Amino acid sequence: LERIERVDAQVNAFLEVTADAAREAASGVDAAIAAGTFDELGPLAGVPVAFKDNMNQLGTHTTCSSRMLENYVSPYTATCVQRVLDAGGLPLGKLNMDEFAFGSSTETSAFGTTKNPWDLQRVPGGSSGGSAAAVAAGMACVTLGSDTGGSIRQPGSFCGVVAVKPTYGVVSRYGVVAFGSSLDQVGPFARNVRDAALTLNALSGRDPLDCTSQECTIDFTANLEQGVQGMRIGIVPAFMQAQGLTSEVRSAIEAAAAKLEAAGATLVEVELPNAAAAMSAYYVLGPCEAFSNLSRFDSVRYGYRDPGHHDLGSQYEASRAKGFGPEARRRIMLGSYLLSSGVYDKYYYPAQQVRTLITQDYTRAFEQVDCILAPVSPRTAFKFGEVSDPTTMYLSDIFTISINIAGNGGMNMPIGLGEDTGLPVGAQLIAPAFHDANMLRVASALE
Ligand code: GLN
Repeated sequence: LERIERVDAQVNAFLEVTADAAREAASGVDAAIAAGTFDELGPLAGVPVAFKDNMNQLGTHTTCSSRMLENYVSPYTATCVQRVLDAGGLPLGKLNMDEFAFGSSTETSAFGTTKNPWDLQRVPGGSSGGSAAAVAAGMACVTLGSDTGGSIRQPGSFCGVVAVKPTYGVVSRYGVVAFGSSLDQVGPFARNVRDAALTLNALSGRDPLDCTSQECTIDFTANLEQGVQGMRIGIVPAFMQAQGLTSEVRSAIEAAAAKLEAAGATLVEVELPNAAAAMSAYYVLGPCEAFSNLSRFDSVRYGYRDPGHHDLGSQYEASRAKGFGPEARRRIMLGSYLLSSGVYDKYYYPAQQVRTLITQDYTRAFEQVDCILAPVSPRTAFKFGEVSDPTTMYLSDIFTISINIAGNGGMNMPIGLGEDTGLPVGAQLIAPAFHDANMLRVASALE
């Protein structure tokens, strides 16, 4: 808590600090230590944890970094947050993000940008920028984020921390404000692979409150010391030759591949022929789902209500126009257009077909390899304001989006500093669905 006080004035990762709740949980851990029952506590006993601000925690503000929810106080707790608390974690507070998780830089937050702790002139990535920055700046041991197209992995790479988007269905989405329900997945940020794996053990498993969550008995820590001897690691030539991939990121990934080969893994080239269409499919499917999900912010039941209106139509219109920022409005308008009659058949339906093709690409690739090694982001952290047009910003996720479309696991593993920029570079490890332990095993070999 002292460190947050000292450091966060510059970084701005926290939107709310729940000091009392953290102290109360800590005194429970102290009491267990005094009573000699510490070992009976959960795997996160005494570990300071903070949550992205799209996760409900009873009695805290859950703003999604939006004016729309500026005064919203959670009446309940999300399953992912509850599982951290049940495992003994100390809740430090809520973390800044892009508004409703739309973005790759945390610049769309209504409550100011979060700074990258490596260079305060630069963005931490997004949308879970606060979650990545808080771990990088030593303000929390573990944080939770959410990833719809890259929002855990890309900020993880910009801030140089381990960041895992598990297979869709590993972690319950109950109580996490929805963006794209078929793509959203919660996962941990941590300083090392073991901490991330321990947190996944606490988070994972079936939740009757989220029908897409799965029974999951994986021990994510089980394979960490096994090494990569005999593993087949896939390299996707089209990713490595992608236009826009900077040479420092490419050479760092190549060095990571060489390291795995030296440790006994075999490198195998695999093709994902339809991955090039992932970005287009995502910017149809994502806005359509976001448009549907955000229709609940109607100014009547909760959220910002513009005062002084006497008919419902103008109240809706003014409240949504003022409550949502520009990127949220862009997504809503795009989704509303794409789902309208006549247009639906031209975009939404083909995008779903592309989704199937991409999923099949991964299934075929994983017949040849155990894990894929790829870039996370084409480049290291950029400066505030440097990427100003939306379509260039969307390209930040060019290597991460196809994983959400297919639903399998992906993670960022920090692999050093770029030779040109001196900023953190991350490698993406991609695993077949529900074989997330494989990618953690490979990450461990790169640690
Ligand atoms: N940057 C992507 C977007 O803006 C992904 C965001 C996310 O994963 N939540 O939609």
